[in-house]
Amino acid sequence: MTQKNILVTRSSMPAFEEYVEEIRDIWDSRWLTNMGAKHKQLQKELSSYLKVDETDLLTNGHMAIELSLAAMGLQGEVITTPFTFISTTQAIVRNGLTPVFCDIDPVTYTMDPKKIEALITEKTCAILPVHVYGNICDVEAIEEIARKHNLKLIYDAAHVFGVEYKGRGIGSFGDVSCFSFHATKVFHTIEGGAVTYAEAMKDTFGKKLSYIKDFGIEDEESIPEIGPNAKFNEFCAAMGLCNLRHVDGEIAKRQKVVERYRENLSGIPGITLNQPQKDVKPNYAYFPVIFDEEILGVNRDRIKEFLGEHGIHARKYFYPITNSVSCYQGKYDPHDTPIALKMSHQVLTLPLFADMELEDVDYICDLIKEAIR
Ligand SMILES: *Cc1c(COP(=O)(O)O)cnc(C)c1O
Repeated sequence: MTQKNILVTRSSMPAFEEYVEEIRDIWDSRWLTNMGAKHKQLQKELSSYLKVDETDLLTNGHMAIELSLAAMGLQGEVITTPFTFISTTQAIVRNGLTPVFCDIDPVTYTMDPKKIEALITEKTCAILPVHVYGNICDVEAIEEIARKHNLKLIYDAAHVFGVEYKGRGIGSFGDVSCFSFHATKVFHTIEGGAVTYAEAMKDTFGKKLSYIKDFGIEDEESIPEIGPNAKFNEFCAAMGLCNLRHVDGEIAKRQKVVERYRENLSGIPGITLNQPQKDVKPNYAYFPVIFDEEILGVNRDRIKEFLGEHGIHARKYFYPITNSVSCYQGKYDPHDTPIALKMSHQVLTLPLFADMELEDVDYICDLIKEAIR
């Protein structure tokens, strides 16, 4: 028997012919980038799909966060979470802002709203929470705190494409939400990202963001902002238009995989699975599992290694937490966020993608059971 080789994720793709058909117009127009027809169409379709007023497309999810912060003209401290992909923290620091790390809730892995207010100082300008694994933050509690203290609220929504809370698109909460359309995400445009925001911000924040992502240019002779180049191209937009047609089906297939994992791994002492959230329409983005070494007698790293020996590539995601990475050595203390620190040593995200075979899920779960026996 040849050994399996299952990666943690596998990109969803449209049929080859569908993509070729979609890019035909680009040959006719010779308009390859700079807010072309596909770009405009995708923005419109995404606003509708995500149930948000406004969507602006950028080269990637990181630039969505970094340039949103820039367009808000923030200064000072930003309360954020260390339990995230490094992008979130880098976006803050690259704007000359200081991240202040808030610990997470151990059930949802998202910023614990009960711990935010103690971190607010006269320098605090914004809160930047992250929706994690498809779980949403406590958006109501966080919004109340932001309002009370007059702070901007920017969500890293890279993991929550298509997620809804009480029938509202998750991107409609807070001031702005930043999505990633990287190849590994539930919905992708190869590389890409978007900022979503309310109609009322269109002439202020929205305008500024559209200049900043294009070198700060308003028109040929007016350059009111200082900006890099983070424009989204027509080929990526075409991929997005194709993928958006199929994303509901892809999410439904992911659901089957997640349900199979749950059937296999529920009720095992020492193993904690991610919990569905009330009033949330999920997207089944990731399948994180918490392994408690004290109960299992074997740690997360050994389980990852054991799976790897059998061709199964799970991911320590998120590890290390962002307040402990080498570029910030000595600046922050990961022990200030003990729950995030503990989770980062216990979590493993298992392979999950739409086309995953359910037999492979069973195989992975059998291996896990063998590893902890
Ligand atoms: C993927 C991701 C990003 C960055 O998005 P890119 O499109 O890869 O730049 C930021 N934050 C989180 C939580 C992510 O998962």
